Amino acid sequence: MSTNTQEESAEKRGLNFVEQIVADDLRAGKNGGRLNTRFPPEPNGYLHIGHAKAICMDFGVAEKFGGTCNLRFDDTNPVKEDVEYVDSIREDIHWLGFDWGDREYYASDYFPKLYDLAVRLIKEGKAYVDDQTSEQIAAQKGTPTEPGKESPFRNRTPEENLDLFERMNAGEFDEGARVLRAKIDMASPNMHFRDPIMYRIIKTPHHRTGDRWKVYPMYDFAHGQSDYFEGVTHSICTLEFEVHRPLYEYFVRELADDSYCPRQIEFNRLNLTYTVMSKRKLLQLVKEGLVAGWDDPRMPTISGMRRRGYTPRSIRNFVDLIGYTKYEALNSVSLLEHAVRDDLNAVATRVMAVVNPVKVVITNYPADKVETVSMDNNPEQDNAGTHEMPFTREIYIEREDFMENPPKKFFRLAPGGEVRLKGAYIIKCNDVIKDADGNITEIHCTYDPDTLSGMPGSMRKVKGTLHWVSASHAVDATVRLYDRLFSVENPSAETDRDFRELLNPDSLRVIEGVKVEPYLAENAEVGRPFQFQRVGYFTADPDSRPGALVFNRTIALKDSWEKEQKK
Ligand code: ATP
Ligand code: MG
Repeated sequence: MSTNTQEESAEKRGLNFVEQIVADDLRAGKNGGRLNTRFPPEPNGYLHIGHAKAICMDFGVAEKFGGTCNLRFDDTNPVKEDVEYVDSIREDIHWLGFDWGDREYYASDYFPKLYDLAVRLIKEGKAYVDDQTSEQIAAQKGTPTEPGKESPFRNRTPEENLDLFERMNAGEFDEGARVLRAKIDMASPNMHFRDPIMYRIIKTPHHRTGDRWKVYPMYDFAHGQSDYFEGVTHSICTLEFEVHRPLYEYFVRELADDSYCPRQIEFNRLNLTYTVMSKRKLLQLVKEGLVAGWDDPRMPTISGMRRRGYTPRSIRNFVDLIGYTKYEALNSVSLLEHAVRDDLNAVATRVMAVVNPVKVVITNYPADKVETVSMDNNPEQDNAGTHEMPFTREIYIEREDFMENPPKKFFRLAPGGEVRLKGAYIIKCNDVIKDADGNITEIHCTYDPDTLSGMPGSMRKVKGTLHWVSASHAVDATVRLYDRLFSVENPSAETDRDFRELLNPDSLRVIEGVKVEPYLAENAEVGRPFQFQRVGYFTADPDSRPGALVFNRTIALKDSWEKEQKK
């Protein structure tokens, strides 16, 4: 059966193709009926939304079929790795809602066993030390259609190889001076079989093993064996590893028997429009100060999305929406944003905040009077309750909600016109006060006392409803508005330009002097989602302090970007 029809039949049974393979293996009683997956991040950066896709698969499939999922730090390159990354990875996986219990492992835990295996392969004539430079080795690799050339060091004796390998690990040779290679087949049609490198010399201390080792295993010599040592049954990874699978199986066969053997399965990566997903590029953005850090809300990192106010559920729902296939694709960030809006609509507390305020004076409302009006916390939920908001003679509304000379069908406030203040009264505009430059400083209105929302007599209808805050009770806040980090849809495809030139110069806009209702000021815990009514979804930033509130706009209420693009 072709991959295509396999996927289709799996779809019909409500399982994705990976789950289908797992289900079949379990039914066939493979590995004693055990299911154990692993998520294997390299601690060389923060996790991004692509990793979330892998996490949802690795942990999700284990959950679904009653198996377990290990967290394994793939820490085989001390040059790039750091404990800061280990900590952030743990936090991000937990935040997404997954747990590995006590199954936290490190590839570095297996360095002794991997070393022993290398020694065994040397003794069996299956590995040799090559003194050539990486350039020479690369030059001998051949092409997919032409065989490679054998290294002049390929036929060293096991004794000589063993002696050199031990001395490599003792620190006797410089980095790059020698490598250990598997002796497989320089003419293999699979390039990965052309005597792949197993070990290289690295003298940077390792964050866990210090300077105990001077040789470090390559990914291909570490991953399958680590899976085997841990008892992993299904090693699920992304498509670029498909071509490595025969080598994965080759090394695993050196260890496994018939009763248990890990199996590699590949699915398509998540790629997102208007961003980059490579950790190398993300690190560059951080290091060069082009963003405020790994958790900058514009970053595609999980920590950035958390700081921005995305919820774990919206990310998981998005991953479900895009699904798992065998074809590479570019996923639209609009779909992610749709999932974010969908979840926030269900969970965000409704509040009022005026981003670009203009003062309204209600001339027939007593100067010292304060009424409390009641506001629904979330009309989408039955038990979300209400909170109170003060109503006073002077309020703020959005400057954009008033027009002195409105076009037809402008249902907001205009001279002589009426609007409802949400949750309060209907007001009518009578007068506009301006400064010497002609800027509007105050709008004078009168209110209709018989129109308080929810009261008998409030049935009178007007077309427009505005959000507002009491001028004397409102609290000042700063909001940060985010846009796409890059101004082109697929920055990685623009190979003739440095990706940093493609950054969107307007990806962050900071607005001061935003007026927010007092309830928000008191309840703005970091990460709690709010809907600023008619404006968007927001959450307090960790920088926020009492008296100096800072909110991140998670996302606008509607997708104005798509509309603008279509114009
Ligand atoms: P790099 O960007 O340095 O090549 P990586 O993105 O592969 O690294 P790892 O830490 O090695 O990062 O990834 C851990 C796991 O997450 C791997 O199994 C990998 O296949 C998976 N993963 C990484 N990026 C994506 C992605 N964009 N979509 C789905 N899975 C991904
Ligand atoms: Mg990787």
